[in-house]
Amino acid sequence: MTGLQHVPPDLLERLARPGPRYTSYPTAAVFDGSIGPAEHAAALARHGATGAPVSLYVHLPFCRTLCFYCACNVIITRRPGAAEDYLDLLEREADLVAGALGRRARVTQLHLGGGTPTYLTPAELRRLHGLLSARFDLSAAEEMAVEVDPRSTTVEQLETLARLGWNRASFGVQDFDPDVQRAIHRVQSVEQTRALVEAARRLGFRGINVDLIYGLPRQRPETFARTLEAVVGLRPDRLALYSYAHVPWMRPAQARFERKGTRLPGADEKLALLQQAVRAFAAAGYQHLGMDHFALPDDELTLALERGALHRNFQGYTVRRADALVGLGVSAISEVSGVFAQGEKDLPAYAAALEAGRLPVARGRALTADDEARRRVILALMTGGAVPAALLAPFAAERPALDALAQDGLVRWHPGGDLHVTPLGRAFVRNVAMVFDAYLPDRPVGRFSQTV
Ligand code: SF4
Repeated sequence: MTGLQHVPPDLLERLARPGPRYTSYPTAAVFDGSIGPAEHAAALARHGATGAPVSLYVHLPFCRTLCFYCACNVIITRRPGAAEDYLDLLEREADLVAGALGRRARVTQLHLGGGTPTYLTPAELRRLHGLLSARFDLSAAEEMAVEVDPRSTTVEQLETLARLGWNRASFGVQDFDPDVQRAIHRVQSVEQTRALVEAARRLGFRGINVDLIYGLPRQRPETFARTLEAVVGLRPDRLALYSYAHVPWMRPAQARFERKGTRLPGADEKLALLQQAVRAFAAAGYQHLGMDHFALPDDELTLALERGALHRNFQGYTVRRADALVGLGVSAISEVSGVFAQGEKDLPAYAAALEAGRLPVARGRALTADDEARRRVILALMTGGAVPAALLAPFAAERPALDALAQDGLVRWHPGGDLHVTPLGRAFVRNVAMVFDAYLPDRPVGRFSQTV
């Protein structure tokens, strides 16, 4: 990623602006009340009739303490029984979804996200698996993934998950520096993390991922270098390096950084941290998959990138393009038969819908043909960095904006009209994707995080 070395300050100023991460297009920001329980049920029924498999995402929102940078939909609680009560609700939702699908659908991928999925005890994890497998066929699920918080996960929980069939794990680290960890209210040691990563490996988990964040309060190049060294020393198969999303108007806990006078790195400092990490990962043999993800050369994501078979969904990069993504749990997003549907974000509203026997859908969006065409381009940008001319044909109006990006060195036109993202453009691929986002002009962009 050599082109990332020098970014003129005026260019950085223009590029560092709020923008979506495009885990979907259209983004969740444009979901509205046009999609409710009836529309989601109809989409599920249409999919069920095809006999095609589904990919399942289950949102488990509980955490014991709040990390101050957190932008997830999370419920902080230590109430005994909270997880069991939630599993009761998930069971009802799974019943309604399976009923709408009209069959026990075959699942190719299952992902537990949160919150902290390992908030659940081993017995609760077994119950979750049982309630899902009673309603969905998990026997052929090639990929069963879980997000792991090393501070609170035990080897017993990993053993339970491995016995039930889980084979992918993603570990949250963010930063190992004690000063940064205190500022973000998330203290975890390298040793604790290493012990769990090694246990996961012994238990047969593959595609092990570590999440980091750059742009956190008190991050400095000297301390970040030590974090990068420690993380690379864990030798995960994959690394995700997210840009810290500072949106205190949406996540009030983040406002305390300013209240307490905790310094946040500016755009130039963030870019320097990103460059530092990209260099460290490249030196350690990791390949840049696109946007914020890296993987070892023999990881299946890297191999998929080389074959042109990499995909992207709400959980990031994947090798399997699911025909339908079914989300369960508060705020979970589904995409089925061309319809996005998002679950109620608040637990009381989610519970009330289920207690009334309704799918807990709050909002969503049906994809138009124009959305589909734009989505194909954005996906191509995010997964391989090249867009064939044929996909660009409907977008003559976007040409001047793309030419301007070409002048800035973010993209390059190839003979025949294919568009390629340059090494510099890879760091700013959200800015390139934004050219194709038909909804951005109508949206208050302040709801998004800075692109760098
Ligand atoms: S563990 Fe994850 S989901 Fe929970 S508060 Fe921390 S960042 Fe948010």
